[in-house]
Amino acid sequence: MKRAKIAHLFRIEPGTRFRSKDHPTDYSDAQPLRHLSGAELKERARDYVQRNLEKLSRAQELLYANDVYSVLILFQAMDAAGKDGMIKHVMSGLNPQGCQVASFKVPSAEELDHNFLWRYQRHLPERGRIGIFNRSYYEEVLVVRVHPELLERQKLPPGSRGKGFWKERYEDINALERHLARNGTLILKFFLHLSKEEQKKRFLERLTKPEKHWKFSAADLAERAYWDDYRKAYEAAITATSTPWAPWYVIPADHKWVARAAVSAIVSHEIEALGLKPPQIPPARLKELEAARRKLARE
Ligand code: ATP
Ligand code: MG
Repeated sequence: MKRAKIAHLFRIEPGTRFRSKDHPTDYSDAQPLRHLSGAELKERARDYVQRNLEKLSRAQELLYANDVYSVLILFQAMDAAGKDGMIKHVMSGLNPQGCQVASFKVPSAEELDHNFLWRYQRHLPERGRIGIFNRSYYEEVLVVRVHPELLERQKLPPGSRGKGFWKERYEDINALERHLARNGTLILKFFLHLSKEEQKKRFLERLTKPEKHWKFSAADLAERAYWDDYRKAYEAAITATSTPWAPWYVIPADHKWVARAAVSAIVSHEIEALGLKPPQIPPARLKELEAARRKLARE
């Protein structure tokens, strides 16, 4: 399948309603992968990811050389959906000097003393670079919406929590992203869409395999009890914030390698679609280079 088609398949068209049950978490059930066994699927997907990472690496070089655009790639997901492994794989195709990862946990006292977008803005990538967000400002309309008591710590002015509060947050996020896009940031937003059954399987594995014990946290199990609230919060947020300048991609995440194949295809394709060319060298600079070449050759 062409990468443009994959991007189209998983993109939430701006203005349409995102309902999680309309989107599979298990793409191996669908064509053209249905006939492959688990091992073959993994093998095929692994090769495909590798080829996309090579394209991504060339695209990153042009991004860096042009120094005009930056790329923000953000990941949101329920626990154990594979954000960490995804980031590790996407990063493995990048030049570490031109990219950075920021992970967002519970905000600190200093962060809570600022507006709700502040701590995220400090980590946005500069021109020529790729920034990856492991969780993002979307937590402000996801975990905070599921646990509204978290708002108590945000020191908001009186009266600001009326009806329409979440709608206003979506508006603020859309406005921020529009500003970034207009100023040259390509924004790619991924929701790794995991089924509740697969999460259970992965948690059980963390509890039964000693080498995976460290990955388990009791807090993850506590959050699982809010599965349906999270589903609703994701549906509302993605519906309200999939925009022409920053669309969401909903990626089936029950098979890690299928998810990685889709993300690597979309990221490499979208950066290439910026249409960057090697920067033009001005004639005066070409003369300088020629003079330097002659001088060196004469040595
Ligand atoms: P991993 O578990 O793989 O290390 P993680 O991203 O789940 O990665 P944790 O330290 O387990 O990291 O969890 C971070 C927690 O911080 C999550 O429960 C998340 O919902 C929470 N969090 C992130 N942003 C905010 C926020 N703005 N307000 C409140 N909680 C937040
Ligand atoms: Mg966690």
